Amino acid sequence: MRDLIGQDVDSELAVLVGQSLVDQIATSLRRDVERGTVKPGDKLPSENELTRLHSVSRAVIREAVAVLRSEGILEARRGVGVFVTDAEQQGVPFSGLSLERISSVIELLELRAACETEAAALAAGRRSPAQLETILNLHRKVGENLENGLSTRDADFALHMAIAEATQNRRFPELLRLIKPGIIMSRDLQQGRGQPGTLTPNLHLQEEHAKIVHAIFAGKAAEAREAMRAHLEGSLSRYKMLLIERVSPPGPTHSELGG
Ligand SMILES: [Zn+2]
Repeated sequence: MRDLIGQDVDSELAVLVGQSLVDQIATSLRRDVERGTVKPGDKLPSENELTRLHSVSRAVIREAVAVLRSEGILEARRGVGVFVTDAEQQGVPFSGLSLERISSVIELLELRAACETEAAALAAGRRSPAQLETILNLHRKVGENLENGLSTRDADFALHMAIAEATQNRRFPELLRLIKPGIIMSRDLQQGRGQPGTLTPNLHLQEEHAKIVHAIFAGKAAEAREAMRAHLEGSLSRYKMLLIERVSPPGPTHSELGG
């Protein structure tokens, strides 16, 4: 079992095609840590060894390790290797969020933007009355969560999924469902609102969604496409800002970086 199409795959494709494989390897590695097969401070076998051990592609190993790094279970030490995080470090919020993980979220957001701008346009032309009602209800739900200080992530994703469904082309919701696990980190990042090194919250979330929803309601395809593009490009730029923050040495603030 190398991967589902029997060859080495690029990282984006690995996320899409090999998602279940990535999950399997991540679970297996997590279990090794929980059972103490590898202990805090231990060095993980090399990427080559893990590839051979699990009979999967390097891309799958890399992504599984990135998942555990984002959970703070593993940490990479430059030029040395990947280690099991020290016990007291584990569970410390944001301690394990890697640059690789942020950059892979950016890759997925770019893919989403390409797919969802078109989905919004198609939905504007094809949505059924029942789908329109679902979209409006989820838009309201996001607003309620915002007002009550609750996480908007799940309702937000459900809204995007409802728009994808309204294209009447099942491949759009299928693609969203596939990439959902890859963008799961955004919740962890949003939980630390206001803390340095976390994602800047989107203060215009409800307005941005309203523009998309109104365009779909009015059957205006070009407006729906443009509103969705603006919405997802906003997310992209917030992740890119986070990436800049993490690559830069401590000191410069947002404004000094020209953001
Ligand atoms: Zn949204």
